[in-house]
Amino acid sequence: MDRLAKGLVVIILCSFLCFNAFAKGLFKDIPACLPPQMQACKGAAENKAPSIINSENKVTFENGHFAFEIQKSPVLSFQKIFSRYTQGECLNASSRIFLIWADDKLVDVNEFVIKNVTISKNGDSKKAEFLLDSKNAGLEVVLTVQIDKTPQARMELALKNETQNKNTVRVLFPYFENVLLGNAGDNYYYFPYKGGLTSNKPYELSSSYTAHTGSIQLVSVFNPKLGAGFFTRVEDNTGRPKTFVLTKKDKNGDEEIGTYKKLYGVFEEVSFKHTEIFPQTMGSVLGCYSYIYDAQPNQSVKLPAAVFGVHSGNFMYALEDYSKWMRTWFKHNRETPEWYKKVFYYPVAHDILGNTGWEKGFLKDGKIAIGELAKPYEHAIQLAYWGEHPKDDHLGDVREHSWYRYANPGDYNYEDEWGGLDALREDIAKAKRNGTRVTLYGATQYGTWLFSKVYQQHPDWAQLDKAGNEIHEYWWDLNDNKDRVRIVNMCGHVEEWQDWVANTNKRLVEETGTTGIYLDVMNQIPYCYNPKHKHDAHPAVAAEKILKKNLAAVCSANPEAVIECEDFCSDHLLQWTDSCWMKTFYQDLPLEFEQTFNLYDVSFVRFLIPDVKWTDFGPRWIYGSRRAFFNGIGYNISEVTNKSDPEESKQVTKEQRLDYLIRTCQLLKENADAFASMNCKPLVPTLPQYVYANYFGTDTKKIYTIYNKNDSEISGPVLSGQNGQNYHFVELLYDEEVSYDSVSDSVSLSISPWDVVCVAKLPKLLQIENKDGKIEVKIKRNVKDGVVKVLDSDDDGKNIADEYKLQKGKVVIDAGKYQNKRLIIKLFVNDYLTDERILN
Ligand SMILES: [Zn+2]
Repeated sequence: MDRLAKGLVVIILCSFLCFNAFAKGLFKDIPACLPPQMQACKGAAENKAPSIINSENKVTFENGHFAFEIQKSPVLSFQKIFSRYTQGECLNASSRIFLIWADDKLVDVNEFVIKNVTISKNGDSKKAEFLLDSKNAGLEVVLTVQIDKTPQARMELALKNETQNKNTVRVLFPYFENVLLGNAGDNYYYFPYKGGLTSNKPYELSSSYTAHTGSIQLVSVFNPKLGAGFFTRVEDNTGRPKTFVLTKKDKNGDEEIGTYKKLYGVFEEVSFKHTEIFPQTMGSVLGCYSYIYDAQPNQSVKLPAAVFGVHSGNFMYALEDYSKWMRTWFKHNRETPEWYKKVFYYPVAHDILGNTGWEKGFLKDGKIAIGELAKPYEHAIQLAYWGEHPKDDHLGDVREHSWYRYANPGDYNYEDEWGGLDALREDIAKAKRNGTRVTLYGATQYGTWLFSKVYQQHPDWAQLDKAGNEIHEYWWDLNDNKDRVRIVNMCGHVEEWQDWVANTNKRLVEETGTTGIYLDVMNQIPYCYNPKHKHDAHPAVAAEKILKKNLAAVCSANPEAVIECEDFCSDHLLQWTDSCWMKTFYQDLPLEFEQTFNLYDVSFVRFLIPDVKWTDFGPRWIYGSRRAFFNGIGYNISEVTNKSDPEESKQVTKEQRLDYLIRTCQLLKENADAFASMNCKPLVPTLPQYVYANYFGTDTKKIYTIYNKNDSEISGPVLSGQNGQNYHFVELLYDEEVSYDSVSDSVSLSISPWDVVCVAKLPKLLQIENKDGKIEVKIKRNVKDGVVKVLDSDDDGKNIADEYKLQKGKVVIDAGKYQNKRLIIKLFVNDYLTDERILN
């Protein structure tokens, strides 16, 4: 062998090894954001009864957690909010308490005269009531502020129109300006845009509740160095639209502030437009801006209650406080169907060209062939553009790509050329037999094709803009000829249209046998100005109706069937959908977005509302794949490579990216009992620095996803307090036993830089003996319907395991078949992993 040939061998071997070494080290050069390190706070809660003192110029509130002052004149305002946790102020200067726009004109805070203040007591709580009046605006205002023993104060605001004319009012309440805890640069925030953003960068953010950007009704500021924070939230369980705002400035005067497409996707009607409320001083503004209220003469408008509070630690206290309140009203419509809990690897397939993860398309030889093309590791596949399409675009232009011939959303007929309904139904059944569910992009409320029958017959259902015109949209790259795919926006308030949509989806489930209907942004109902329609008070009311109708229709066709939405608008609306395709860190947004706002890699709403099935939709693979795994949620494989990926991630091939998803999604599926559990908690304690863990539990096993955010491998104790004497611990991604030390009660393992792994605490059920050419697997406990699966070398999600049915609690396997191989032996009960042993 000459030198050159030797060199070649080395190179080949190396690339073979690198490829084969799967994901360990796959992310070694691809860092993720680092959250700030929290320090313990200086102070603590004190045992102090709540008191309110009304003196000449101010009212002072105090309990064991905070002390604050409301100044009575010349202007009603917060003067101080002292936190016992930081032993310091939460405000840098005074803060107004609410802002009111009457007929779209800001009422100057100086116009309000305080007429009366009364203090009252009810059990443990004390309340101050402020009666104010503005002659100019013709408004009487009643503000109440109540405290008890908890770290939260509760405020209510009612406005009375004292004129003889109908008024419209918009209110910013709660409103806190000049919020500053210690050094401005150390002030971090939680903002509820989609799943929740966190950062310390100066930004102007706004997000609408009930439009697709919105999510929950909470805004928070915290200082990790001081180990404490401040938050405010709104208690409204009606789903009424509102806009949450947060701006942060690190210095007084002019400062370059990042503006993340502030009003992105927000309807004009709920947009926050009054920028004059942002002071030029450093600190943060936190608030909630109401949608318009009509104030009738001599009638009162009562705003939803607002809560503010202080706490130690980061914003998790505020989230838990929000969760407690949310759970007083949030009732998910039903238990998630068992099959759907197990869906994690979830590509979308189009006819001839899918998204990157499924680029083969669902056609073969011009016929629908999803049953043949689907792989068992594809838990579900959504078919989009599966419906009938015209042979040309009505302009005589014939093109290959479906989007140019696209007739969905239209009448939702089947395409005869592809085999019609029969082929589709048979194919869906075939895929299901092979382990892959097929869902359909279904009828949605927002629009229909111009040439569809439903529009031709019911043009009166169309949505009109303020000028009285129909709104037509032209999809994708069709600018050269806009009439090609012309969508007419329909009005989601029209009951007949809602029924048409729900009935169409019911028909699709009945006819095709599909068990999932994707409703896209069904929950995002636009405003409509068609005077002939009967419109609800606000679009979220229509969204609620339409979700309820669709859920009922689809379930009546098949109780196993689910409805899926894209972007969730509000926690309120999540009550009537089975799932949400979450687009918090969508790949089309600038890279800056996730590099600024994704500090924790935690999807907070996923933990707040585990009743709903979450799927990450379209993130950058390099961040999104680990993030989805860390959060124990599914992944919609729309793009696995992205042109705007950072340079260091381009070395990871497309094949490796898909392999990673197949492997992690398989793990999630096998443990879907834990990942669908209500018993889950983000950011549980770990031992090493920059290592983060999320927890998911069932009665029999505990699971931790663990993110090593160090740029080097960590090795040693990671989790403690496991009480693991009768258990053992297995890392499930690479299938390795993990050591547990009962003296220190700690679990030790090593994790590659920037990698996410998954440790399970499992009962010691499998007892394995390997001798005389036989592997005897005994189950220590009586297990009903247990199945033992054996994999040699690697469980990559694609390898097919050998399956052995338990007989009298035991399985005897011929060891010859597996000579010199590492064996992964898994016990499944009801399809869920119950124990796992590695035989090296
Ligand atoms: Zn309408």
